[in-house]
Amino acid sequence: MNEKQLIARMVQEINEGVGSDIVIMEICGTHTGSIAKYGIWDMLSPRIKLVSGPGCPVCVTDKRYIDMAVSLSQREDIIIATFGDLMKVTGTESCLSEEKSKGKDIRIVYSPIQSIELAKEYPSKKVVFLAVGFETTAPLIGKIVMKAKEENINNLFFLTSLKLMKPILKEILKDKTHCIDGIICPGHVAVIKGADYFSFISNDNNIKTVVSGFEPLDIISGIYFIVQQCKGKIHNHDKNLYKRCVKEKGNETACKILEEVFVHEDGNWRGIGIIPDSAMVINKKYETLDAKKVFSFDNLPKVIEDNCICKDILLGKEIPTSCRFFGNKCTPQHPVGPCMVSSEGTCGIYYRYRKE
Ligand code: SF4
Repeated sequence: MNEKQLIARMVQEINEGVGSDIVIMEICGTHTGSIAKYGIWDMLSPRIKLVSGPGCPVCVTDKRYIDMAVSLSQREDIIIATFGDLMKVTGTESCLSEEKSKGKDIRIVYSPIQSIELAKEYPSKKVVFLAVGFETTAPLIGKIVMKAKEENINNLFFLTSLKLMKPILKEILKDKTHCIDGIICPGHVAVIKGADYFSFISNDNNIKTVVSGFEPLDIISGIYFIVQQCKGKIHNHDKNLYKRCVKEKGNETACKILEEVFVHEDGNWRGIGIIPDSAMVINKKYETLDAKKVFSFDNLPKVIEDNCICKDILLGKEIPTSCRFFGNKCTPQHPVGPCMVSSEGTCGIYYRYRKE
């Protein structure tokens, strides 16, 4: 049986005998993107509802952080290095894209290592790397922080907004009005932290859990295992379906880097609010590289929260087409909320693949 036939067979079994609605959350924006791109929504029975979670790092980056980045970009002595996805995310009064159009020195980079190259190339400037992401990207950023310290590069700084998956998932699962039958956990986070990192979902909440990769067969297999468990045809609650990349305990080297460079503190998730112990921030040993400690941010504007339902989208309670702004006032060209900006944002993905 080839892969296509295997997928067709699994889809048939998934859709057979689904008595009542089965709600499955894919936490990660990369999964949402693959589900849309490969047409998985359309393969499934309408009784199987896929909802997205808060796993798009750009979408959950709070306005205060963007305001800080904008404020730094306005200084003559600073070069901002950032991933492209952040450029259009709105702060309170401006965004990086707008500042760049006004001539501010903002460079799009594809890897944090380029921030070191920039710092070496422009020794008379201060380079600030916008370090945004989850457990997946944090080890590489941590490694660059260590390298900058080892090499005594004193004109490179990191403005961090690094978040942890586990605390936000615990918050979602606390809400008992939210009926989730199964969760597809992000394979790339599990590569770092291990499949065991997500075991609390099934152990403490009796929710079916799979760790999945990002190919169509990976995702269909994840849905298959959850649905078949719901139907009572399979009986173990959590399953690592990404064994080709994910060990139960994760990547020891990457985890050591996280421990070496970061500590956990309360994190502000855009639209959602403060989630205890959900942020990774640079620890005391490396604080001379922490932009939040080095620069002052006295004149930041008062934050005005987004006037949209991004929160409910990020928590999987609504779908983008329920938003009154979707596709009219809010488009990828003119985003109102952060979920429309990123390639991993649920609203942006719906706009590209599923408009009704
Ligand atoms: Fe926010 Fe736009 Fe999505 Fe509405 S469509 S929830 S305004 S990002």
